[in-house]
Amino acid sequence: MDFETRAIHAGQEPDPATGAVITPIYQTSTFAQEAVGVHKGYDYARVANPTRTALEVCLASLENAAHGHAFASGVGATSTIMHLIDPGDRVVCVNDVYGGTYRMFSQVYEPKGYRFSYVTPDELSTEAAANVEGARLVWVESPTNPLLNVVDIAAVARAAKDVGALLVVDNTFATPYLQTPLDLGADIVLHSTTKYLGGHSDVVGGFAGTNDPTIAERLRFLQKSLGAVPGPFDSWLVLRGLKTLAVRMERHCYNARVVAAFLQAHPRVTQVLWPGLPEHPGHELAARQMRDFGGMMSFLVESEEEAVDLVSHTEVWTLAESLGGVESLIEHPARMTHASTATGPFAAPTNLVRLSVGIESAEDLVVDLDRALAATRARA
Ligand code: PLP
Repeated sequence: MDFETRAIHAGQEPDPATGAVITPIYQTSTFAQEAVGVHKGYDYARVANPTRTALEVCLASLENAAHGHAFASGVGATSTIMHLIDPGDRVVCVNDVYGGTYRMFSQVYEPKGYRFSYVTPDELSTEAAANVEGARLVWVESPTNPLLNVVDIAAVARAAKDVGALLVVDNTFATPYLQTPLDLGADIVLHSTTKYLGGHSDVVGGFAGTNDPTIAERLRFLQKSLGAVPGPFDSWLVLRGLKTLAVRMERHCYNARVVAAFLQAHPRVTQVLWPGLPEHPGHELAARQMRDFGGMMSFLVESEEEAVDLVSHTEVWTLAESLGGVESLIEHPARMTHASTATGPFAAPTNLVRLSVGIESAEDLVVDLDRALAATRARA
């Protein structure tokens, strides 16, 4: 079945007990057993819950994964995946990575003896074999956060396989509607479901999917043993979000195209970073491995003062962290989402502004940015 149909139906038969068309929120921590160890597949809700199962089956289907595991947050999924490897192991990570991932790697796992090397998206794509040598795990985002670089997932997957390393792709920015990393050779696909998958900025969640039964079994064990699981209501919110993912992504991509064209023509904007632009260095690669170019975009203005001033003076665009909701958000990565990389090897440029382009009227979004940019100029 096609993506749109699976998004609405996979894992979601009408409820066997009542016929409810929508999967119920099974708000229970435990399940009655007929005799010791005899039950209907559920015994305790940290181990499994039917609402969470529906989400895991549906999202796994969208990622073309045989196995899916839902988590309480994207960070919860990341920390659980890190338990697949051991202190002393080497992780190769793309250097333009979500600030919270870098914070976890550098301040939680590095002090425990895990070793990290950070490589630029370009080096990773073009010299994958040399860069992943000695790695046990390779960590990639594509497009990257916040610079919207594109990594050649298939090339990195081949190189990782050659050295026996696991390739994890954080697919939060692209979503499975635009990109399916397992089809490109990744071992694990990860999401912050907080973003496009939930889609309405009302839930925090995470996900990891794989086609490898051994990895899946270990992740299932770690999910239960480490306990970063989502509650039934949060699982239900993400499941509901998935139903409209395809139509929302179409609109996010359309609006992003309009906003990118506007920003490119604006005299106060020095560079627009969006893989949909033909002059973007990752454009051709993105066109190969993605269905469209997504709703995330960054741009450079002349100074930090101008960037900070601009993000505080939009009206339709809300100044906030996070991304992927129906509403448009604007932020200053260097002081907000990526403050934790400020002292690291890849600080976000201080004159960078990041946009999560929502699904409002594209014209309203452009008019608001135009007004805020003009007001910034007036104050400068
Ligand atoms: N990965 C990416 C690309 C993100 O942007 C984020 C959060 O912003 C995360 C992972 C972490 O997810 P969460 O905030 O759901 O823990």
